[in-house]
Amino acid sequence: MERQHIASKFPVKVELHVHMDGAARHQTIVDVAASRGLIPHCDTVQTLKQQIVFSKPSTLDRLLQSFATFSPVFAGSRDAVYRLAYEFCEDCSLQGIKYVEARYSPHLLANTFEKPVYAPEPGNFSPRDVVTTVGEALQQGTRDFNIQVKEILCCIRNFPEWSLEVASLCREFRSSVVAIDVAGPEFLSGKDATQCPHKLAFKEVEDAGLHRTAHASEVRSSVMMYEALDEYHAERIGHGYRSLDCDKMYQRVLKERIHLETCPISSILTGGAPNGKSNHPILRFAQDKANFSLNTDDPTVLDNTLTDDYMTAKEFGLSDDHITQSIFNAARSSFLPEAEKKLLVSELVKVYGAQW
Ligand SMILES: [Zn+2]
Repeated sequence: MERQHIASKFPVKVELHVHMDGAARHQTIVDVAASRGLIPHCDTVQTLKQQIVFSKPSTLDRLLQSFATFSPVFAGSRDAVYRLAYEFCEDCSLQGIKYVEARYSPHLLANTFEKPVYAPEPGNFSPRDVVTTVGEALQQGTRDFNIQVKEILCCIRNFPEWSLEVASLCREFRSSVVAIDVAGPEFLSGKDATQCPHKLAFKEVEDAGLHRTAHASEVRSSVMMYEALDEYHAERIGHGYRSLDCDKMYQRVLKERIHLETCPISSILTGGAPNGKSNHPILRFAQDKANFSLNTDDPTVLDNTLTDDYMTAKEFGLSDDHITQSIFNAARSSFLPEAEKKLLVSELVKVYGAQW
């Protein structure tokens, strides 16, 4: 009942924080794994899910390990990456998502390394080939399924040697790539932050007039957010639940209208919200009228849709109005060019009214 209510109440959605390389269909993983002879003991969606889906609270690090199980299916294969990106468009469209920013790591899907992280073996599918392939698939997918998609390229915290190439790919593909991100396990860059490649990459992207978002304070303290905002000049924060640990930071979030890309289901399963559903940080953000959005994060391992996340947000205590506001917040904090952003907001106004 609640699902139907949510689906009909929020027919048009905007999503800012979803890892496309963590949003593969389970059936596609099973199909491609079979054709490439990968992932033992997963010949059905059910057996695959038993290996990779989280249903109980765990840790962020454990969640990231799930990627190691299914990512080899896509990494290093042009056809598989194309299918991943194309189906992503269809899945978003089926959920009523009008505009989505799809983030991924070009390096984790490539195989031009002596020892690729996920690809089963080295090859000639480079990070640049990944971005080209994703771009082609998204172009076709957005046409076929009538949605708008922009890309965010991810640096990975524990692979700083990739970050400068991520920045140059952002610049080269700026017609479809709108921003850079840093993802992966949460830890500070360390004392020598001025020479940190992530920071240099963010600076290069900023100088080129592109946008920045950073995963921060998801499971670690608000010091991560100080680094993201003051060192990386991030305009948005992925998660940011632990901003509540530091009143000075939280007041800054409210005052400067820093956008927090929150992910309700993810926050429970990664340990981002240690109290579970009670006293959830997202409820506080909503009550304090912070600038936040609701997102899925990693549907492959969390087995969720945006509707599931809206339902979970309601269990935290958010009202329908809070959710509508979060959709408008997402549109206004999107990295679309201003004219396109206005159009998106006007589409939302047609559905939800002008009071948001
Ligand atoms: Zn994320």
